[in-house]
Amino acid sequence: MKSKDVTKLYDKYVMKTYTRVPLVFEKARGADVTDIDGKKYLDFFPGWAVSGIGHCHPGVQKAVSRQVKKLIHVSNNYYSALQGMLAKKIISHSFPGKVFFANSGAEANEAAVKLARLYGHEKGKYEIITMKKSFHGRTLAMITATGQDKVKKGFSPLPAGFKHVPFNDYKALAKAVNAKTAGIMLELIQCEGGINIASKEYIRKVRRLCDKKGIVFIIDEVQTGMGRTGKMFCYQNYAVKPDVITLAKAIGGGLPIGVMVARGKFRDVLKPGTHASTFGGGPLVAGAALSVFEAIEHDRLLKNAERKGKYLVAKLLGLKRKYPSIKEVRAVALTIGVELSIKGDDIYKKCLEKRLLINCTQGNVLRIMPPITVTRNEIDRAIKILDEVLHG
Ligand SMILES: *Cc1c(COP(=O)(O)O)cnc(C)c1O
Repeated sequence: MKSKDVTKLYDKYVMKTYTRVPLVFEKARGADVTDIDGKKYLDFFPGWAVSGIGHCHPGVQKAVSRQVKKLIHVSNNYYSALQGMLAKKIISHSFPGKVFFANSGAEANEAAVKLARLYGHEKGKYEIITMKKSFHGRTLAMITATGQDKVKKGFSPLPAGFKHVPFNDYKALAKAVNAKTAGIMLELIQCEGGINIASKEYIRKVRRLCDKKGIVFIIDEVQTGMGRTGKMFCYQNYAVKPDVITLAKAIGGGLPIGVMVARGKFRDVLKPGTHASTFGGGPLVAGAALSVFEAIEHDRLLKNAERKGKYLVAKLLGLKRKYPSIKEVRAVALTIGVELSIKGDDIYKKCLEKRLLINCTQGNVLRIMPPITVTRNEIDRAIKILDEVLHG
């Protein structure tokens, strides 16, 4: 098949819920992607942050092919060794607590909201406060939680009990809290929102507020987790522990998985019959996720994310000095946003023509998130392309 044949199939048979780039990928490795017509691309936004340790990581390939011959699925009313081992691994990297497995970021967040509501239920608490410009997924409850009107249009009535306050604004948050507040959910770096980074002072105050009022503090780490910020989880860059974190995207090495992790006294809030997921944490994805942790540990990828993040940001700041169209570079390790004073769409498209894949969000923010295995040579190649594109 040629790419034209594939796009025709989509036109006829696949719902148009995405604005798709007419590119058909056939194979990939690390940050290299090859399309169906044989053209090669450098991927600095692999799988929307899913392929965090690069495409088709050999460790993931090995784990999946080993498991696929043994057992692919087992229902969650039995046990699987890999699910148990993965839960232990996640806990060893976060905080003492327990894990619930789902299949996506939205589902992990749903589970977190259900936990907060169940925890607050007897005290009549049910409200969840989230942030403006946030993104939490596309289920009905999660478009309600998401602080952007564009995802909600046409879907009312939406579930009750959610409110939004401006991000990084402690006063507004404290004012919104009342006797009905069950949970506060936020991203430490609003990625879809344009790489907006929560301040340490703000997060410290949110933690204190949640402690004082008995509110569940939920951090959505779906995009920031698994090493992209130089730590396994982004909250580890802050001096606080949340009560709940949610994970998805990069944790499965490309396979679909969502995780909710609950700390201390929240670990046993969800009881038999209160929540479930048929596919959640099956042996195939659990094995893949374990191999992702192994790769990050064995190849010292947290260190690499930090070092290469510094290197890439320094290069981007070099471009900023050269081109006034770059307003600001915001970054935590390899979670990077380049805010432009012009529209980003054009830049993004020109990068694509020169075979560099990045993303543009909020109209004028280039989102650059290479795999955490990225090399200096790959960064140099990407910067050269960006330089040419910005030069015009
Ligand atoms: C992608 C994303 C989600 C939704 O994840 P899905 O797997 O698409 O449901 C939720 N929160 C954040 C921060 C995300 O980046």
